[in-house]
Amino acid sequence: MSDAPLKGWNHVPDVPLKVSPFFTWPLRPMDMLRWVWNSWFLITEKLIIVAIACISFYWFQPPLEETKTLAFGWIAEMYVRNLVLMTAVAGGLHLYFYTFTKQGQKLKYDPRPLMKNGRQFTLGGQIRDNIFWTLGSGVGVWTAYEVLMFWAMANGYAPMLTWAANPVWFVVMFLFIPLWESFYFYWIHRLLHVPFLYKHVHALHHRNVNVGPWSGLSMHPVEHIIYLGTVLIHFVVAAHPIHILFHLQYYTLTAATTHTGFEALVVKDENRLKLGTFHHQMHHRYFECNYGSLEMPWDKFFGSFHDGTAESNERMQERRKRFMSQ
Ligand SMILES: [Zn+2]
Ligand SMILES: [Zn+2]
Repeated sequence: MSDAPLKGWNHVPDVPLKVSPFFTWPLRPMDMLRWVWNSWFLITEKLIIVAIACISFYWFQPPLEETKTLAFGWIAEMYVRNLVLMTAVAGGLHLYFYTFTKQGQKLKYDPRPLMKNGRQFTLGGQIRDNIFWTLGSGVGVWTAYEVLMFWAMANGYAPMLTWAANPVWFVVMFLFIPLWESFYFYWIHRLLHVPFLYKHVHALHHRNVNVGPWSGLSMHPVEHIIYLGTVLIHFVVAAHPIHILFHLQYYTLTAATTHTGFEALVVKDENRLKLGTFHHQMHHRYFECNYGSLEMPWDKFFGSFHDGTAESNERMQERRKRFMSQ
């Protein structure tokens, strides 16, 4: 049966998973409006990150005159800011969901707890391993890209978009970045599954069969460089410093939120904030599926879409077998 529930999960959202209605035929204008509304105008991750980017820019970002010349002081300031941001988001979610188990098993996808110990992990445990790679490498590479972009903008090497000259583009750029993310992430993620790169680089992220908030940005340094290299597009596509902050914060902070292992944060019995996507959670368990996100259906186009149904599962197991025997 195509709609039979999938075995081995504590919680499964409504399946089959639906991708953005902008890519579903026939077009349904109401669904399209609802998608934009739900993903932008309810209290969502995207809006929260826009707010974080604005706060970072106005209060915690050295001005462009200063970033014209590389100096230890302002770079350290940005590094500390990012360290605090990452720790607050991933650490906060971890405390909430796993240390204090505030939500119990409610909306938790995988029934199992995170792995306490395991020889496959750096420092001997999943959480220690994940924190180590996130803070040790992830935040460093993230800051390095910000430093590069701010230095380049200040010196006129990267084009600048201002609110005064281009208010429409200024707003559209926020909508464009998640779409670009979906495209970029799909392709680099498939590239990382090429056996050589998988073995030497991406396997580190896949130590996490079951995921928690710290798993999101737990990657090999080479993967951090590839993954966060997304922001280099702003050497071609003009942006404002707020967009640069948003772009990288979107990648790093949603890495934590999409790996919480829970569908949403429940407040007073209502799903208040959508978090981890089942789509990517299945990638961690089933591996050869769902490289991208639901924002743009690249997985659908290229036959790697697992929509969470048992039928889809059989198809993916076939793919996996083929991959493993390579
Ligand atoms: Zn992967
Ligand atoms: Zn992942």
